[in-house]
Amino acid sequence: MTMRFRQADWSEPLIFELSKEGRMGHMLPELEPEIEGEIPTEELVPESIYRTKDSGLPEVSEIQVLRHYMHLSQMNYGVNSGKIYPLGSCTMKYNPIINEIMAGHPKITGIHPLQTPESTQGVLKMLYNLKQYFLEVTGMHDATLQPSAGAAGEWTGMMTMRAYHKDNGELDKRTEVIIPDSAHGTNPASAVMAGFKTVEIASNKHGMVDLEALNAAVGPNTAGLMLTNPNTIGVFESEIKEISKVIHDAGGLMYYDGANLNAIMGWCRPGDMGFDIIHSNLHKTFSTPHGGGGPGAGPVGVKDFLAPFLPVPDIVENEGKYTLDWDKPKSIGKVHGFHGNVGVSLKAYTYMITMGGSGLKESSELAVLNANYVGRILEKEKGYALTYDPEKPRKHEVVLSAGPMLEDTGVSALYVSKKLLDYGLHAPTTYFPLIVPEALMIEPTESEPIEALDDFIEAMKEINDLAYNEPEEVLSAPHNTAVGKLDEARAAHPRTICLSWRKYCQLKLGD
Ligand SMILES: *Cc1c(COP(=O)(O)O)cnc(C)c1O
Repeated sequence: MTMRFRQADWSEPLIFELSKEGRMGHMLPELEPEIEGEIPTEELVPESIYRTKDSGLPEVSEIQVLRHYMHLSQMNYGVNSGKIYPLGSCTMKYNPIINEIMAGHPKITGIHPLQTPESTQGVLKMLYNLKQYFLEVTGMHDATLQPSAGAAGEWTGMMTMRAYHKDNGELDKRTEVIIPDSAHGTNPASAVMAGFKTVEIASNKHGMVDLEALNAAVGPNTAGLMLTNPNTIGVFESEIKEISKVIHDAGGLMYYDGANLNAIMGWCRPGDMGFDIIHSNLHKTFSTPHGGGGPGAGPVGVKDFLAPFLPVPDIVENEGKYTLDWDKPKSIGKVHGFHGNVGVSLKAYTYMITMGGSGLKESSELAVLNANYVGRILEKEKGYALTYDPEKPRKHEVVLSAGPMLEDTGVSALYVSKKLLDYGLHAPTTYFPLIVPEALMIEPTESEPIEALDDFIEAMKEINDLAYNEPEEVLSAPHNTAVGKLDEARAAHPRTICLSWRKYCQLKLGD
């Protein structure tokens, strides 16, 4: 396969190196002569905080600054600049430009969060409508848009669960949340942060919840179950109704991790499966750039009987007027300032409207088709295997195991991922979920054309062949990147990593 790697030019000088004394990118207006009666600026700023040395900022022209930032942006792999971003569970789909145009509209960016509801009717209406759409897609009865990420949604949901058991006078005894071993790592973390103990149950040979293990784990101490469906190996829990019944009969609640609704939206609804609480990641399912710590939104939906516990304020509509309802004595309180990340909500709202109900349904279909296309072809390669019921269709993502490759050649999943970088491709999620040895978790999403899928498949096949014929070539990868294989322990070590200017690093690290 020809390598179509867009090599970032790392020899470009840094902005500090471009600096020329006296060069300017902008000119400040002349200082106004002092206005009578005003305190001169020098007296407003205490002398103790005056700068004593030159700031050392680079002296460059405007175009140099522009090129600098443009260059930096191109050194990244992005959904818009790379090709297929198969990071499983992260749902790196295309984020339509219209979303950005809407979120960047001055009528949105110019609003102040402390404005009155009377002067922000449009935004309140948008948020109110988004909530209705969210309820429609998930099959829940009420929701909050406040949580600012998936994990924040999980925590809000678990606090809601807690408030419910407390209200029933059962919190002392209902201390345990059951979580399958295939769960996303944030699930146990959120449960613990909300004050619960977690009980892990093993998956069965189909990679699904083992009903026997569930029955053994459930009891009077059960507060609830946290579940992802389709689960992290991309398989739909076909016994979900039975699972719900076991938990409900024990007095527990069903929590749904709907970070990636993109496998099922328009086809089935967590509310109908028996779930009482759900969060979804607007920034995965409903398109919004994320990763690298970008803003997110993790709305939480609940069934009617849990609505009183949701965060305040609630946006209510009355004859076309929108007001804020703070009157919820049982509420868990606020979990985010104002209405959460409104820009993210607006992008998701735009996405939903432009797609329409049938469009959302079709996008799920394509996401599932793309994942199965990649999985079906690659599992035929000697080094890759589909563990857990290979004949069962996957949903939006497919998890391959590089276990056979490791056994035969000594090349592990880590090296497959590193070698993919040489092809100018992003690696899949590697070593997650934990229940699949040598896991490569691939989620192509619905937005990729077949050519991009084929390129990815071809690269994966070539790596398979290399592993069996020239393993050194894979084990020493990557070769085409600016830096080779990083020492991951050192790179994560705060004292040896240097994110600062090259010369400064040299001074500090001495090489
Ligand atoms: C991404 C993800 C989360 C966490 O979402 P954040 O927005 O990163 O906090 C939780 N569960 C699943 C299944 C996910 O894929």
